[in-house]
Amino acid sequence: MDSVGIFKAMVRAGKFPHAMLLEGPGAKDFAQFVATTAVCTAAEKPCGQCAACRKAADHAHPDILPFYPVGAKKQYPVETVRQIRTDAYVLPNEAARKVYILYDVDNIAPPAQNALLKILEEPPAHVVFVLTCLQKSALLQTVLSRVLLFACGGEDSFSEQAQHAAEEMLKAVLSVKELDLLQLTHAASSDKQLFLETLAAMAALIRQAWRCKCGLPDINPAAKELAGGMTTAALLKMIDAVDTVANAVRANGNMRLCATRLCALLKSAAGK
Ligand SMILES: [Zn+2]
Repeated sequence: MDSVGIFKAMVRAGKFPHAMLLEGPGAKDFAQFVATTAVCTAAEKPCGQCAACRKAADHAHPDILPFYPVGAKKQYPVETVRQIRTDAYVLPNEAARKVYILYDVDNIAPPAQNALLKILEEPPAHVVFVLTCLQKSALLQTVLSRVLLFACGGEDSFSEQAQHAAEEMLKAVLSVKELDLLQLTHAASSDKQLFLETLAAMAALIRQAWRCKCGLPDINPAAKELAGGMTTAALLKMIDAVDTVANAVRANGNMRLCATRLCALLKSAAGK
């Protein structure tokens, strides 16, 4: 399971992490996603549609508080961390949680980390801390032991063939062309490696569409089209469908059956 999958599972289980460290090139996108999930008022979070999600997408939610390092050395002044600590005890304005995002903590100095540690050790129940970095090497062990680490590698790149197959399959789901979907899926499933790569490319596209719904910038036109035609709940189900089939393929399931199952699951997820 990737980081998004793990986070989703935790949220579903009612175990929203109190402190997270997001490491890698995709950390900022993921931080925005976590914050939106934290304030969303719908049952399936983030829904991308409620007032809270829309405010989060506009960077205008009063309970999402972003902080950035200052100066040439990209430092967090101890004073800033102390202010965050004091503010953290104040209840949220309108959401169930208050999210502090500390962007780019790559160079955060030990005194600021020690100041942060005091609140990370016993955060108030309504507070979520999200730290982002490219490299966690500057962080003290004491801080690392208090945060849940998520790797955020950014989107993977796939072979042209897998990417194309994934885009065509998602288009077929969108346009309810069942026969096309079946043919495309069976064609992709003729080779195990290609099939797995196509499934990974699909999952990546659906995740992009999902982030697009949460107001994050989107690059891939196929993902954008998908976001326009599907609800967030449908996209979540589609990701589960692709994951389920990928696991079955990895477990050496019959490829043709896996392909057929993928079609059925995607169709049902999309509500078509
Ligand atoms: Zn929402």
